[in-house]
Amino acid sequence: MSSACLPRAATLETRARPVVPRRARAEAPRSAAPRRGARAMASRVVCAASAPVPIMVNDLTGKMGRAVADAVVARGADQCFLVPVALSGQAKDPVDVGGVRVEIRSVLDGDAGATLEELKSAYPGMIVVDYTLPAAVNANADLYVKHGTPFVMGTTGGDREKLFADVERSKLPAVVAPQMGKQVVAFQAAMRLMAENFPGAFAGYTLSVTESHQSSKVDTSGTAKAIVQSFNDLGCGFDIADVELVRDEPTQLGKMRVPEEHLLGHAYHTYKLKSPDGTVGFEFQHNVCGRSIYAEGTVDAALFLAQRVERPGDKTLFDMIDVLKEGGMVTN
Ligand code: NAD
Repeated sequence: MSSACLPRAATLETRARPVVPRRARAEAPRSAAPRRGARAMASRVVCAASAPVPIMVNDLTGKMGRAVADAVVARGADQCFLVPVALSGQAKDPVDVGGVRVEIRSVLDGDAGATLEELKSAYPGMIVVDYTLPAAVNANADLYVKHGTPFVMGTTGGDREKLFADVERSKLPAVVAPQMGKQVVAFQAAMRLMAENFPGAFAGYTLSVTESHQSSKVDTSGTAKAIVQSFNDLGCGFDIADVELVRDEPTQLGKMRVPEEHLLGHAYHTYKLKSPDGTVGFEFQHNVCGRSIYAEGTVDAALFLAQRVERPGDKTLFDMIDVLKEGGMVTN
């Protein structure tokens, strides 16, 4: 990235006026050469926006934010590029992401709206990605709505009903999804279709569910809850309280076979079905290590949204099923 693309240091004096040089979208920073692999080819199916899409990632000092920022840079400047300013809970030192120096400003200092306005003007067509905290979901969505910055909300929690109502009412294009892993969403949707088309197909079968996540996750996985709902509609009669939650490292390393390097970031799910007489068994499993599946899905969602901004339709609030229907699958 050339130094001409970098924002000047944020100071009280410079905050009041644009601090990021205005430039055309086509002048994307060349921080990463376009990739030629299968992933780049597959993701091109999703990217049909007419120019590289500027993507702002809030907060890219968090675990998911950083994974998304890395994925944006890795996609290549022919598809998208990282906006060199991010909002966080508090101002922090600049961060280097694949050669892009990103300035971190506080969302709480009163200038967050001015920051969005100046970035919107410097990077026309900018898409915001939000991976922050459940407590920040509604306030951040309000901010994006107020300043008309289309956004992808990957952050979970907050008041979801209010979130959907506010975004829908505003008609601002947005993708909101608590699960950005496209292949996991596809599996979830397939289970839903099976339940809707063949209700009661597994009546009498006994279901057992085990899920393992990093020990900091206390609640039952939302994905497990959704899949169990489909199994129940297929006739299983399973109480979600009976999901076996694995949070201790010895069991994760042993029984669950989680690689040691992913103890702090994994999502393993196993669903086992047994027929009433025990002669028939089914087993479904989706095991995710790390965050790249969510990060890649998020970039696809941002590129999808950029298309919708360019060619608006009646629908403005999207989820990952809408992104999936676009057809581009990135292999992880
Ligand atoms: P994290 O704690 O590593 O990062 C959160 C970051 O947000 C921190 O850096 C914090 O400083 C910053 N922050 C706090 N308040 C803020 C505000 N008001 N505005 C901007 N930034 C603020 O958390 P994480 O592991 O990156 O997870 C973030 C969220 O993403 C969680 O809600 C998690 O459940 C969700 N998540 C969603 C998916 C998905 O597929 N949709 C996948 C993984 C995680």
